[in-house]
Amino acid sequence: MRATVFESGPLPGGRARRVTTAGRTLDNGQHILVGAYTALLGMMRTAGADPDRLLLRLPLELRYAQGFRLRAPALPAPLHLAVALMTASGLGWRERLGAVSFMQAMKKKRFRVEDHVSVATLMEAHGQAGTIGKYLWYPLCISALNTLPQFASANAFLAVLRDSLGGPRSASELLIPRVDLTALFPEPAAAWLAEHGGEVRCGSPVRDLEALRRDYSHVILAVGPHQLEQLLPGLAGDYTYQPIYTVYLKFPAQVKLDLPMLGLSEGVVQWVFDRGQLGGEAGLLACVISAQGDHQQMQQDELATACHHELSAVLGALPMPEWTQVIAEKRATITCSPGVKRPGPGTPLPNVFLAGDYTDPEYPPTLEAAVLSGIRAAQLIA
Ligand SMILES: Cc1cc2nc3c(=O)[nH]c(=O)nc-3n(C[C@H](O)[C@H](O)[C@H](O)COP(=O)(O)OP(=O)(O)OC[C@H]3O[C@@H](n4cnc5c(N)ncnc54)[C@H](O)[C@@H]3O)c2cc1C
Repeated sequence: MRATVFESGPLPGGRARRVTTAGRTLDNGQHILVGAYTALLGMMRTAGADPDRLLLRLPLELRYAQGFRLRAPALPAPLHLAVALMTASGLGWRERLGAVSFMQAMKKKRFRVEDHVSVATLMEAHGQAGTIGKYLWYPLCISALNTLPQFASANAFLAVLRDSLGGPRSASELLIPRVDLTALFPEPAAAWLAEHGGEVRCGSPVRDLEALRRDYSHVILAVGPHQLEQLLPGLAGDYTYQPIYTVYLKFPAQVKLDLPMLGLSEGVVQWVFDRGQLGGEAGLLACVISAQGDHQQMQQDELATACHHELSAVLGALPMPEWTQVIAEKRATITCSPGVKRPGPGTPLPNVFLAGDYTDPEYPPTLEAAVLSGIRAAQLIA
């Protein structure tokens, strides 16, 4: 079977792509993967994009400028997690034990609760909303679901916990791209497709689904839900969206973090990544702000200044950045709320299928969900 990909943008990658702006090559947003993303990692290998070379693999370590630190030791699962939780700094004994029993309780429930439950409600019910919530569960929820805990689906969060912290040790490892996002997978995938008789046509928006249906035996609409509305109205559901802001600050080359990724908890910045340690320019820091918040009301230069001040407060006085760049993805993902509609791969049209991060039945809108959905649609066709 041969496949043709029509991509409206000038290069492949969609919401995970390289952007060139003011002569600089950046990503549209800092992305992070976990070892549990097995479908994505498998797809990378198929496309000849070696994850071991293209991704920096780190043992699970969450370190905050404010002192909290959790690190998984090199022990088999589930010991690695139990020891990580029991030795986390910045937590009392009661909270450490509470976190271990929370994971055990969720395991007993097979990581599922009633559909209407939010992450915040779940955490409050299990005594996990204190310091452990502030530094572990809520940041994980915001990073994985791009939705604030009070609005986020507990079941989508639990699916991620089941496969990452609840899985083998490798599943909780953090994988950070060492190359730009278009080089990470879309370009190798396009090359693989070309070798197998297919093609990626960039700058080719699809406007007429009926024409496509006449020309091709099967069509997979792998677009964002708001884009689907134009091609096949009424199918996607009435979603709300969450933003992700990435604020790049370029400092002199000697400015670096002690580790590739550091958490912040007192201002707008949630995570800061040292791109110099990730194959990028030395001195380039990327601040990530996921989900909705007051930062959306700020002008871009105001936001960049706020990030600069917050970084200076925790890293020691930093010089003025040589340049800054704010990339605001306003529709980064759908709001992953309890009971949000997931349309699945089928459509009323017999040869038209859906794929995309919002269509996965249980995973939050992530790269893994996008890959899983593509595999599911292709399997239906096959
Ligand atoms: C800033 C940011 C940070 C993120 N961080 C993470 C992260 O750390 N980890 C993670 O797992 N996920 C992260 N995500 C989410 C992840 O990027 C998405 O879940 C994933 O890229 C969605 O892939 P998709 O194929 O479903 O949709 P998209 O990537 O949106 O792909 C849809 C494609 O369809 C094209 N298109 C639309 N309409 C048409 C048309 N009519 N004709 C032709 N082409 C069309 C679009 O141009 C686009 O390329 C992040 C997203 C953003 C924006």
